[in-house]
Amino acid sequence: MAGIVVVFDFDKTIIECDSDNWVVDELGATDLFNQLLPTMPWNSLMDRMMKELHSQGKTIEDIVEVLKRTPIHPRVVPAIKAAHALGCDLKIVSDANLFFIETILKHLGLEEFFSEINTNPSYVDEQGRLRISPHHDFIKCSHGCSLCPPNMCKGVVIEERIQTSLSSEGKKKLIYLGDGSGDYCPSLKLKEGDFVMPRKNFPLFDLICKDPLLIKADIHEWTDGEELEHILLNLINTIAMEENAQFISAADCKLQTMSAHEALPQALPVRQ
Ligand SMILES: [Mg+2]
Ligand SMILES: [Zn+2]
Repeated sequence: MAGIVVVFDFDKTIIECDSDNWVVDELGATDLFNQLLPTMPWNSLMDRMMKELHSQGKTIEDIVEVLKRTPIHPRVVPAIKAAHALGCDLKIVSDANLFFIETILKHLGLEEFFSEINTNPSYVDEQGRLRISPHHDFIKCSHGCSLCPPNMCKGVVIEERIQTSLSSEGKKKLIYLGDGSGDYCPSLKLKEGDFVMPRKNFPLFDLICKDPLLIKADIHEWTDGEELEHILLNLINTIAMEENAQFISAADCKLQTMSAHEALPQALPVRQ
């Protein structure tokens, strides 16, 4: 059953909080973050905050320790493992950064379960400072989407990366899970037969509710990790059953055709 691709947002979808806020708050830099936020894009501010924390003597190990304590609902890890065991291709599309996501996934024992992580690149430089850059280089040129922040349009990732590779691999269904306003643009790109799972009473859900007819995908909201697990696994099983039913009915047709042909010569002796 390799027919389903599940795309997860990361912050407040896989984990319970926003990883950027979590690191800044836990390392005691909330006031500076709030002070600088009105002056620059979020993604540039995170790179700046890593510089400030580094100059205050906070190390990469300090950041890793904080990331290891990231809150997560206990049913999310089993849900991801079950979706993978059912044959789904799992991907992440996130406006956090690669270092935070990989550190948390590794800590949860989940790093092998995702085939792709689309996010803002990051690396530790020679001074031991974490550098975070935009997924989309908006200094060079804009991605042209007015719904999304300058550094990343998740809709472009869905359209140009994920849906393009799907159509080359034959028919596949997409299930997209998210909570934030940045997940609205990719939700609009989903097609009939796809599914969107917005977190209830979070910005994505509110945006969808304003005009649900703009969404071509089926909408299935969830509130917490337990509902995420139930709804996601139900959807996967339903899609799998439909695919099997189609396969069986196609096989039935073939059998009927075959028996019709075979029935002809046998029909003679039966007639008296
Ligand atoms: Mg999110
Ligand atoms: Zn966009």
